Amino acid sequence: MRRAVWLVVVALLAMGYAARAADNFPSRPITIIVPFAAGGPSDAMARILAERMKLALGQAVVIENVTGAGGSIGVGRAAHAAADGYTISFGHLGTHVCNGAIYKLNYDLLDDLEPVALLPSNPMIIVSKDDVPAKSLAELLAWLKSKPTPATAGTAGAGSGSHIAGLYFEQAAGVKLQFVPYRGTAPALNDLVGGQIDLIVDQISNSINQVRAGTIRAYAITQENRLPQAPDVPTVDEAGLPGFHMTLWSGLWVPRGTPKEVVARLNAATEAALNDPSVKKQLENLGLQMPDRDKSAPEALGAWQRAEIAKWWPLIKAADVKVE
Ligand code: ASP
Repeated sequence: MRRAVWLVVVALLAMGYAARAADNFPSRPITIIVPFAAGGPSDAMARILAERMKLALGQAVVIENVTGAGGSIGVGRAAHAAADGYTISFGHLGTHVCNGAIYKLNYDLLDDLEPVALLPSNPMIIVSKDDVPAKSLAELLAWLKSKPTPATAGTAGAGSGSHIAGLYFEQAAGVKLQFVPYRGTAPALNDLVGGQIDLIVDQISNSINQVRAGTIRAYAITQENRLPQAPDVPTVDEAGLPGFHMTLWSGLWVPRGTPKEVVARLNAATEAALNDPSVKKQLENLGLQMPDRDKSAPEALGAWQRAEIAKWWPLIKAADVKVE
């Protein structure tokens, strides 16, 4: 009996402690783990948001790039962190959906992570090094088909957004590519500009400044409408690959078991950042598209992630993607 009373007292004290910790949250800096290289599209979006989130949270929000294995190393680090809101996992369709069908993960994407907020999405853009002898998507496809060996396509690793987009492109265009994995599309883009690889089916926010500067060649955007930020680049429908549509949405998660109040604070800080006109301008200038307002709750990201798992896992399993 005495033992039972003690157990109740200890449980109540623990609950009180957790509630106070949630009330005082955050009382120290927060880390967002970006699972790709610094300077790439995930990193850029996370840094723009973190700058504004720190104002809402009253604490520093630092970015840690933990790269490798298509982002699964960084996501694993976050999934195994303490469930206290101080470690956030940044990711996207690749890391938080497709990787579950490609890798033997030591975490479960749904059971070990708790959704915080849906972030902007990135249309993809087909880009090549400048000396590829093609001026249009039709010419690029003809060149790819005529090559005796497959063209090289940079990716951020098996299961990354650029890899999934590349696989989808192979299928839609009826071509074969030789994928070259990097720790993110920032180093892949450097090699594209330097001419070491032939192309990337890239996130627009990664390539847009090089396209504007004319250092690489852009062929088409993977959505129905042209982007005002890159009005000269045709859509895939205009350029000869009708229906090859893909946007890469992103999001934030915390370890499962994080107190509800803490998730709500992080969600509110993310929303404050997304609604800030100067943040919005920076993101939109990179070609990113803001999430719908009715998808701002953590539950909306959870429902979306589940729906995307149902859609993509069968396709990826059928494609039998090999981990490099
Ligand atoms: N998110 C990118 C991809 O999946 C990589 C990166 O952010 O560097 O291709």
